[in-house]
Amino acid sequence: MGGEMRPYVGRFAPSPSGPLHAGSLAAALASWLDAQAHQGRWLVRIEDVDAQRCDRRWVEVILGQLACMGLHPDAPPVWQSERTALYDKALTQLQSAGHVYACDCSRKVIRAALGAAAPSGYSGETIYPGTCRQRGLPGGPQSAWRLRVGCATTPVVIDWTDRRLGEQSQDLTHAVGDFVLKRRDSSWAYQLAVVVDDAQQGVTDIVRGEDLASNTARQIHLQRCLNLPTLRYLHTPLVCDDQGRKLSKHLGAPAAEVDTPDRARQALQACAHTLGLHLPTELWHRSTLEEGLTAAVRAWHSRWAMA
Ligand code: GLU
Repeated sequence: MGGEMRPYVGRFAPSPSGPLHAGSLAAALASWLDAQAHQGRWLVRIEDVDAQRCDRRWVEVILGQLACMGLHPDAPPVWQSERTALYDKALTQLQSAGHVYACDCSRKVIRAALGAAAPSGYSGETIYPGTCRQRGLPGGPQSAWRLRVGCATTPVVIDWTDRRLGEQSQDLTHAVGDFVLKRRDSSWAYQLAVVVDDAQQGVTDIVRGEDLASNTARQIHLQRCLNLPTLRYLHTPLVCDDQGRKLSKHLGAPAAEVDTPDRARQALQACAHTLGLHLPTELWHRSTLEEGLTAAVRAWHSRWAMA
């Protein structure tokens, strides 16, 4: 089932909720470097299913930042908001196989069902108490759809190997529970969209920030439910601010400034440092961005591509 026999396809999948900051730029560079080191293709996908958080104007900014860095995708970017027919099809497949059920619980109802002792998952997310699991609701415009994730006696435990983090394991049943694929407002959840798109685009390798590592078990489980190949994963180090907090748009991380060749080269140097690539310091004084990128591909190759 592994992706090793398929030609390498990597991708960078930004959500246009703000410009790239130093952390997301490092993740973009890492996915590009890995694709180059494997002589593979590199795609960009705009993850704009969450209409409330996303804004089209950021897409142009992000694509501009990538272009200034010399990171050019091998095909025009695709937009998740234009791909909902694919997500519908996957949901239908999951419905036919009995992997999902309709759920009409509001947050309030879920909180009330859980009471004071609300168990929470690894990241403080509420674990759905399973209220609608056996109700057999037909599902309508107001219902969410949830994936069944095992049960107490036969939990779903996903083991996987991350190229950087090593052996990983997550008991999805107890850490996450039955997660939403389509919300009550009809919007698609990231987990479904990302799994469907990666498969449809022939992606073999995911290289992204470590903050997304905790989604991997859910995505592998979904791949299995949809009979899709399992991918290879490499989660990259995060960039923290001076208080040790991960840079995030949410906390107002500044946009990576890459609009001149000098700034782009400096940004590349900072990203290479984040990614643990050892490049000679003199390189940055005398070389062009292209030369810097070539050196970074070589350094990445010797560090990661041999696995
Ligand atoms: N769209 C996600 C984000 O910007 C990344 C998804 C992924 O790489 O799997 O956080």
